[in-house]
Amino acid sequence: MVSHYASQGVGPDLALRVYTSRLLGGDRKLVLHGGGNTSVKTVVRDLIGDEVEVLCVKGSGWDMAAIEPAGLPAVRLAPLRRLRARASLSDEEMVRVQRANLIDPGAPNPSVETLLHAFLPHKFVDHTHSSAVLSLADQPDGEARCAELYGGRLGLVPYIMPGFQLAKKAAEVFEADPEVEGLVLLKHGIFTFAETSREAYERMITAVTLAEEQLARGRNTVVFPAARLPGAIAHPAEVAPILRGACAIASPERAGSYKRFVLDFRTDPAILDYVNGAELARYSQRGVVTPDHNLRTKNYPLLVPAPAAGRLDDFKLAVGAAVDSFVAEYHAYFARHNARQTVPKRELDPMPRVILVPGLGLFGLGPTARDAMIAADLAVSTIETVSDAEAIGRFEPIGEAEMFDVEYWSLEQAKLGQAVEKPLAGEVAVVTGGAGAIGFATARALQRAGAELAILDIAADRACAAAETLGSSALGLGCDVTDAAAVRAAFERVVERFGGVDIVVSNAGAAWQGRIGEVEDTVLRHSFELNFFAHQSVAQNAVRIMRAQGTGGCLLFNVSRQAISQGPEAGPYGLPKAATLFLMKQYALEYASDGIRSNAVNADGIRSGIMTPDYIKSRAQAYGISEAAYMSRNLLGREVTADDVAQAFVHLALEHNTTGSFVTVDGGNLAAAPR
Ligand code: ZN
Repeated sequence: MVSHYASQGVGPDLALRVYTSRLLGGDRKLVLHGGGNTSVKTVVRDLIGDEVEVLCVKGSGWDMAAIEPAGLPAVRLAPLRRLRARASLSDEEMVRVQRANLIDPGAPNPSVETLLHAFLPHKFVDHTHSSAVLSLADQPDGEARCAELYGGRLGLVPYIMPGFQLAKKAAEVFEADPEVEGLVLLKHGIFTFAETSREAYERMITAVTLAEEQLARGRNTVVFPAARLPGAIAHPAEVAPILRGACAIASPERAGSYKRFVLDFRTDPAILDYVNGAELARYSQRGVVTPDHNLRTKNYPLLVPAPAAGRLDDFKLAVGAAVDSFVAEYHAYFARHNARQTVPKRELDPMPRVILVPGLGLFGLGPTARDAMIAADLAVSTIETVSDAEAIGRFEPIGEAEMFDVEYWSLEQAKLGQAVEKPLAGEVAVVTGGAGAIGFATARALQRAGAELAILDIAADRACAAAETLGSSALGLGCDVTDAAAVRAAFERVVERFGGVDIVVSNAGAAWQGRIGEVEDTVLRHSFELNFFAHQSVAQNAVRIMRAQGTGGCLLFNVSRQAISQGPEAGPYGLPKAATLFLMKQYALEYASDGIRSNAVNADGIRSGIMTPDYIKSRAQAYGISEAAYMSRNLLGREVTADDVAQAFVHLALEHNTTGSFVTVDGGNLAAAPR
C-alpha cells in the first residue's frame, strides 16, 4: 500500500490509513454500508505549498471496504481543535467549519464524527459498529457489562447523538483516564486509537474478540422459543408481490400512479429462528442496534402473519391491515416527537424498510434494488446482534426520542427533495429476448429511466452478460419463452429477486419464411409457438403477478410491420404477429379494470436477430441497391435503429393513460400505418 500510493504522491500515513480502513470495512461484523469511520493525523502541503497539520477523516458517501485516499479528505486540525472551547455548535455550523478548513475545496464532506477524531490526541483513530460490542452495549445493564469485560481498558461514553456534544464528551472520558486504548460508545459502537495504524487496528480486533468470547459464555440454550406456524408456508414468489403492493404509495395527484419499492428477500436458519420466535413482537420492535441504521431501516420492521400455503387471500387481507396500522403508528410517532421541535420537521414516507415474515424470512425494501439490498443487509446484521443480545440478556437499544433525532436530523432533512427522481424509479421491468439488439437497447433505455431490469434470453450466458453490462443490480436469466413452465420459473426468479413486476416487454421473436400455400405446417406451427404463444405465456405470468400487487402494470409487445402489411413469403412470421397484435388489445380490454395497460410497437427494418447481415446483403443485391440504401427504404430515408424502438417502448411505459395502442417505428411506411 505504502509503495503503491507513494507513486501517486500519497504519503505513508494516509496509505496505511487506507489499508487498515479497508481491513475493518471488509468485515461485515464490524462495518456495513458506509457505517463506521477512521482518521489519521498527518502533515500535508496545502494548495499554497505550506506544510500544515491535518486530520484525514472518512468522507461521507465513502465505504470503508473500498476506500481510497480521496475518501479521506484532509481538514486543518488546529481550527477543529479550537472549536472544543465552545459551549455549543449546531450541526450546520459544524459542517460549515469543516468544509471551510478542507485542504481540497472539492473534497466530500468529512464524517459527522470528525470532531470526535480531532479532539482525541492519537495519530490513528478507528471507529466501528461491531455487532458483538453492540450485543453487550445494547442491554439494560450494558454499561456494567462493558465495564466488567474491559476492566478499564476502554472508557465508557454514555449515549449522545453524533455531533459536537458527543465529541466533547468522548474527549472528556478519554482525558479522565488517558491510559485507555479506546472508548465504547454505549448503544452506538466502539473507538480504538494508537500512534500506529497497526496498533489501533489490533486494539479494535482485541476488544471485539473479547466481546465475542463473552457472548459465547453463559448463553441461553434456546434463545427464541418458536411460535406455532402453519404446516405449509407459501412460496416467497407468491408472498412478495402482496407485500410490495401493500407498501406502494398511491400518488395523490395522478390516479393509478404509485411510488413503489423494490424488495430483497433473505432467509437462512438464523433468520428463520428469529422470525419464527413466539416473542418476535417484543424483541423485533425495540429499535435499531446503532443509531444511523434507522435512516435505512426505519426504527421498527413491519411484522406480518405467517403466510399459509393456499390461503393467500387471507394473507393479503392481514398484510393490508398490518401496513395500515404501521402507517398510523408512524404518523403518531412523527406527531409525538415533532411537537417538541423548535423547527418543525418534514415527515418522511411512513412505509417500512424491513418486513419480517414468520415461516419465510425477511424482506428489505428500498426505492432502488441497491437500497433494498442495504436495508436487507442491515436487517440480517440486526438479527445477529439482537440474537446474541437475547442469548445473554435483553436487547435494549436507544429510546424512541433518540431514534427520532437521528431519523429527523437537520442535515438529513436538508437533503430532502434534492435528488431528481427518475420517471420509472422503483419499477421492475422484464425484457424477453433481452440479449438481442432491440431487447438490450430497450432494457438499457428502461434502466436509464430508473427501472430495475431482468433480462430473459434463450441463451443464459448472453442474458447474464447483458445484465452484467447494465450493472450489479440487473438480473440475467436463461429462458426459452416457448416453454410455459420455464417462463413461469423465470418470473418466479424475478419476483424473488425484486419483489414483483411492473413492466414486461415481450420482445423475443424470430422470422420464418415460406410461400403460404406451400409452406410446411411445422414451420407455421414453430412460428406460432414463438411469435404468438410465447407472448401469451409471458403476458399471463405478468398479469398474475401484477394483479397480486394490485398496483396496475404495463404490458408491451414487440409486434411487427407484418401484422399490418403483409410481405411476400412473410406469412409464417406475419400471421402469428397479427394474432399478437390482437392479443395486445385483448389484454387491454380485459385487464384495464386492474389498471394494467397493454400496448405494442410495430418496428420494421432494424438490424437485429431477424435481419442478419447475410439477409440484408442478399436483399440489397436482389433490389440492386447498396445495403445503406436498402436499410433506409422509408419515407424519411433514414435507417431505423434498435435505440429508436427502445425509445418507443419507454414512451409507452410512461404513457400513463394509453392502452390498446401501438406505435409504428419504421421511418415511415404508409402501407403499414394504422387506418
Ligand atoms: Zn458511529
